[in-house]
Amino acid sequence: MARRPLIAGNWKMNGLKADGVALAKGIAAKMAAEAPRCDMLVCPPATLVDAVAQAVAGSALAVGGQDCHAKTAGAHTGDIAAVALKDLGAAYVILGHSERRADHGESSALVRAKAAAAQAAGLVAVICIGETEAERDAGATLAVVGEQFAGSLPEGANAANTVIAYEPVWAIGSGRTPGIADVAEVHGAIRALAAKALGAEGAAALRILYGGSMKPANARELLALEDVDGGLIGGASLKAEDFWAIAQSCP
Ligand code: PEP
Repeated sequence: MARRPLIAGNWKMNGLKADGVALAKGIAAKMAAEAPRCDMLVCPPATLVDAVAQAVAGSALAVGGQDCHAKTAGAHTGDIAAVALKDLGAAYVILGHSERRADHGESSALVRAKAAAAQAAGLVAVICIGETEAERDAGATLAVVGEQFAGSLPEGANAANTVIAYEPVWAIGSGRTPGIADVAEVHGAIRALAAKALGAEGAAALRILYGGSMKPANARELLALEDVDGGLIGGASLKAEDFWAIAQSCP
């Protein structure tokens, strides 16, 4: 089954309003002029979701959050409800990024609850999974990824409301990437797990992104892999020309 790739930018905690709006508008304008062979998404910090969503409203560029709470409302100071992201114009939300798993102690069970809330609010949950360097060195990559996949995927997940991002933790922001055969192996394993969870059709339609030091120089090779359906991009998504060059690398 042909899956339309998704090129997603995770801006993390970067950017003030004017920069973020200009970056997003620039990408939206490129999309309008050149119609890329992929869907595109930017996930600005929560402070900019409203401004960015307004700036690109009506364009093909989608906007997402970087986290949401598992509850719809209540006494959760500083947290953001999925319905509130949706209300601002977001269509996606990144969940379980390794920086949140590490910095905020997020477990797969919590990620699963957040993903269920996101999907109930009408957002697509971009669920991140990936091994640390120590886990890879111990030969535990597939076990860790399998555990995180099973633990983070909510009941109602399907290929329309879920995207999986395989992000080896040690590749994020490091300039290092796994060998191409390693990426192919892990993505193939995730597809096989998805077949058990979602059925053959669901697994065939599910988008599985690679993330971790993707840049224009390595994107073509990674995106050409059969089970790589796009990228989740951190650093290189902050430069319009690099982000666009990655999108142009989609097969
Ligand atoms: C990320 O944070 O999701 C990421 C992939 O970062 P980078 O592209 O900078 O490695």
